[in-house]
Amino acid sequence: DPRLKAIKEAIRVVPHFPKPGIMFQDITTLLLDHKAFKHTVDIFVDRYRNMRIDVVAGCEARGFMFGPPIALAIGAKFVPLRKPRKLPGEVISEAYTLEYGTDCLEIHVGAVQTGERAIVIDDLVATGGTLCAAIRLLERVGAEVVECACVIGLPEIQYYFSAYSHDRPTRVLNP
Ligand code: IMP
Repeated sequence: DPRLKAIKEAIRVVPHFPKPGIMFQDITTLLLDHKAFKHTVDIFVDRYRNMRIDVVAGCEARGFMFGPPIALAIGAKFVPLRKPRKLPGEVISEAYTLEYGTDCLEIHVGAVQTGERAIVIDDLVATGGTLCAAIRLLERVGAEVVECACVIGLPEIQYYFSAYSHDRPTRVLNP
């Protein structure tokens, strides 16, 4: 897909952020580039338009930037999966392991109905821990998780994602 080159070129790589040794993939420069941002959304929209998707669930925070335009274009609702203590209503929580320590995603009770078909959107998959927590959360509220989609995959560790969610097709645009 020729659009991938423009997308890749629009993502800035920042060495040693937020700590030494990390090559941070910065998608804020992609958001500045109207054409590349639109290409990114269009690729997901092309894929999901005819898959009867009811719910686009975005992981905080960068899943909130790509999820809503996709949801609007495919006629689905957008559901934010938030970090702890951000959602004001009744929530269900799912903890997950990070490299150091744990984190948690939360969903509002009632945001998703049993049997609804969902996709999960984030900017980047590394270990897959965040996406797996999102899948568990959506399944606990009765959704059918059709697929997870990310703009960026880190190839050297992407294997782990497929290993422990082998039955979840993953769409990585720019591996
Ligand atoms: P995982 O849970 O190990 O797959 O890590 C993915 C999560 O970490 C996503 O929510 C990403 O937004 C975030 N993340 C990890 N590395 C980067 C990066 O280089 N750029 C932007 N986000 C990152």
